[in-house]
Amino acid sequence: MTGAAHPLVGDIDVAVIGGGIVGSCLAGFLAEDGVGVALIDDGRIGGSNANAGSLHVQMQSRFMRLYPQNVPGMERQLPLYPKAVAFWQAMQARLGADFDLKMTGGLMVAESRDQLDFLKIKARRERELGLDVDVLDRAELDRIAPYFGPDVVGAEICANEGKLNPLLANAAIRRWIIEKGVVLVEGESAGPVRRERQGFIIETGNGRIKAGRVVLAAASGSKALAAGLGVAIPAEPEPLHMNITEAAAPLIGHLIQHADRMITLKQFGTGQIVIGGGWPAQLAGERRHPTVELASLVANATLAQHIVPRIAPLRIIRTWAGINTSVDGKGVLGPIGLVPGLFAAIPGDAGYTLGPLSARLVADMMLGRQPNEDVSPFSPDRFEAA
Ligand SMILES: Cc1cc2nc3c(=O)[nH]c(=O)nc-3n(C[C@H](O)[C@H](O)[C@H](O)COP(=O)(O)OP(=O)(O)OC[C@H]3O[C@@H](n4cnc5c(N)ncnc54)[C@H](O)[C@@H]3O)c2cc1C
Repeated sequence: MTGAAHPLVGDIDVAVIGGGIVGSCLAGFLAEDGVGVALIDDGRIGGSNANAGSLHVQMQSRFMRLYPQNVPGMERQLPLYPKAVAFWQAMQARLGADFDLKMTGGLMVAESRDQLDFLKIKARRERELGLDVDVLDRAELDRIAPYFGPDVVGAEICANEGKLNPLLANAAIRRWIIEKGVVLVEGESAGPVRRERQGFIIETGNGRIKAGRVVLAAASGSKALAAGLGVAIPAEPEPLHMNITEAAAPLIGHLIQHADRMITLKQFGTGQIVIGGGWPAQLAGERRHPTVELASLVANATLAQHIVPRIAPLRIIRTWAGINTSVDGKGVLGPIGLVPGLFAAIPGDAGYTLGPLSARLVADMMLGRQPNEDVSPFSPDRFEAA
């Protein structure tokens, strides 16, 4: 079929490639302003349809440990996180939807003096960068979260962290963008993308789409699409593991993380406890499908019940894997200087938290408006040409 116009959309103002949280919100914001938008997504499991729903604000020790070279980038991105959480709240109100969004704060626990000292240094730095954080000893912690295991000695608390249920949020955002007239091209891989004298030609398995402008919102899939146009975006896939338990009575209010070990824990309004934190999955087979590893399931569940022993009797009813994307600790947002009309929209670490706000910033740039934030640190032009 290549060569023929795509049956759903032959010619469009903007083609957004990648229908995760960033691409979807961006398509919605552009469509609200009267721009004709096609959103092309291959239907594979990415980040937005697999994530844990943590609304992160404080720096995650996992990223600091794994990618110490990215810490300056993470610090540059840090002030955006509380704003991104507030943006999620505004988004829920604006859509008149219920995302099961709770702003209950987040606790990063320590199990040794060394870990607590690390949290004190981290909190000091984060306060300098404008975050509302504090470090609690065990007695103070027990007053607000009396369920931790005996080894926990204290925690960093971050007031404006929270959680939401991504299944509810994604469904509401999908309804909103359909209502706004975004053309959904689903289950089709986009690429290669070719620059024409005016605009772009995007090949899909089902025909060609001609677009005035193109946005690469395809997470790690953006790397190959950009490379085809001579642009470097070093976005790498990171397959990760997740679990969810059966429902339990309300126990855990906060978003829970660890100073030194890979764990996130939270309880949804359904009573289910979502357990994640960055345990690896694998990209299996020819299609590199994100696939669960038994070792991650066992280690993740064991650690969860060590941190909160009262969840030990709960049964895990589902495990799954998704693909996170890692760049350099910062988002990749805005026009690509080398290719006029080409834009990138890739959030930084904890990209679901950052998703809607990142989309807003790119939409504003595309609509010729001054974004509300200084977007210069996130320019795609910081990478060398491919
Ligand atoms: C298991 C897991 C748990 C996570 N938990 C959290 C969390 O609790 N909180 C948080 O803030 N973040 C979390 N993250 C990170 C977060 O999910 C991602 O950073 C975020 O969802 C990325 O959004 P996105 O729209 O940029 O990309 P994605 O949601 O990955 O969407 C990109 C889409 O583009 C598609 N695509 C790629 N190439 C092409 C192509 N050529 N043609 C068409 N389509 C294409 C992909 O298949 C995908 O559907 C988690 C990630 C994982 C994997």
